[in-house]
Amino acid sequence: MPQHARNTRVCRDCDGFATVAITTGARHADGTRATLRVACPTCKGTGHTAPASVLAHVGR
Ligand SMILES: [Zn+2]
Repeated sequence: MPQHARNTRVCRDCDGFATVAITTGARHADGTRATLRVACPTCKGTGHTAPASVLAHVGR
């Protein structure tokens, strides 16, 4: 059976999409959409969970 390695430590809050662009509906003068870039508070925009040293304590 295939091994399902979960060593990637992708942030489970944002699933790796740490920075999300939110369309505000407003537009800039040049016609482009004005977006807000919001970084995931859990991983602080890195897309990964806490360092391995912290994860070791969580363990099982
Ligand atoms: Zn995240």
